[in-house]
Amino acid sequence: MATPTLTIDLDALRANWRALDTASGPEVRTAATVKADGYGLGIGPVARSLAEAGARQFFVALAEEGAALREILGPGPEIAVYSGHMPGDAEIIAGNGLIPMLNSVEQLTRHFEALPDHRFGIQIDSGMNRLGMEPAEWAAVAELALPRGPWLLQSHLACADEPAHAMNERQREVFEQLTEGLGVPRSLAATGGVLLGAAYHFEMTRPGIGLYGGAPFAEARPVIGLSIPVIQSREVEPGETVGYGNTWTAQRATRLATIAAGYADGIHRALSNRATLWAGDTPCPLVGRVSMDLITVDVTDLDEVPEALDLFGLHQGVDDVADLIETIGYEVLTGLGARYARRYVGGA
Ligand SMILES: *Cc1c(COP(=O)(O)O)cnc(C)c1O
Repeated sequence: MATPTLTIDLDALRANWRALDTASGPEVRTAATVKADGYGLGIGPVARSLAEAGARQFFVALAEEGAALREILGPGPEIAVYSGHMPGDAEIIAGNGLIPMLNSVEQLTRHFEALPDHRFGIQIDSGMNRLGMEPAEWAAVAELALPRGPWLLQSHLACADEPAHAMNERQREVFEQLTEGLGVPRSLAATGGVLLGAAYHFEMTRPGIGLYGGAPFAEARPVIGLSIPVIQSREVEPGETVGYGNTWTAQRATRLATIAAGYADGIHRALSNRATLWAGDTPCPLVGRVSMDLITVDVTDLDEVPEALDLFGLHQGVDDVADLIETIGYEVLTGLGARYARRYVGGA
C-alpha cells in the first residue's frame, strides 16, 4: 500500500505527561490540553492514555470537542472549554457536564441565565489580549461570580516559550493581583509556564504541546514517527530537472525516489528543496517541489532504494521541520492530514 504510516507512541505521551506533572509540586494538579483532536494525533487514544497516566482534568477549545471527549472518557474526568459559553451551547454543556471558561461579561450573563446551577470557570486576560475578561470587567463581576463558586480562575501567558521575556513576570503579577486570596483554584501555566517554575504553577497547570513532544519542552520524548512509502525510483542525468516548475537541477547522476505524501498531508509546500528525509541513519535531501500527494527525494547515497523514507523519527522531530519554514511544531502537528494510517504503539 502507498498510504504513509503515522506512528504515535502512547508510552512517550504518558511519559511526557508524568514528567510535566513531576515538574510541579504534588499539590498542583496537572491537566491535559487535548484540543484540535489531541493536537492532530487522535483524541480517543490520546485522551484515554493521558487518563490512564493520571490526568483528571482535560481542556478543549470547543464545546463540541468536549462532547466527543465525554463520550471517550465517560463520566469521571473534568472537561473544561476554553471558548467558554457560546450562544446555543447550553444543551451541549449541560448534557456532557462540560465546564465553560467564561471569557466575558456577556458569556457570564448567558451562563447564569441558561444554567444557573452549572459549574463554570473564568478566564481573565492578564495582557495577551486574546481571550478572557479584562481586569476591569472581572472587577465588575467578581462579586456576582465568586459566591457561585467558580471551578477555576485562569489566564494565559503570551511569551512563556521565552523564559527571559519580561512579559512573563508582568502577566504573573497581574494575575496574582486579580485572583489573590479569593479561595478559588487558579491556573496560569501551559507547557511553557510549567517550565518557568513554581511561581507560575498555582493550583493547576494545563500543558498541551509538551505532551506531544514539542518545544518548549526540550526534554520531551518524541511522540510521532512518519514513514512514507517509495512508489517509484529513477536515474536522472546531470542537467535534468525535477518536479513542477523545474526548481531543482541534477548536478550529478542522481537516483531519485518518489514517495507517497505531499502538501495535502500537511507536508508544507514551503519545504520544497529544503527538508531532509531519512533512510535509517542516512539523510536524503528532498529535491524539487512538494506536490499534493508526492515528494521527490535524492537517494543517490544509499546502497539501494528503501521501501520507505521517514520524515519524523529519531533524527528529526516536528520542531526541526517547523524551523525550516519559520513556523512552530504546533502548526506542523495539527496540520498533519487525515490520510495517514495512524498506528498507535504502547497501548491505550
Ligand atoms: C492551547 C492552550 C493551552 C496549551 O498550551 P501549550 O502551549 O500547547 O502547552 C493552554 N491554555 C490555553 C488557554 C490554550 O489555548
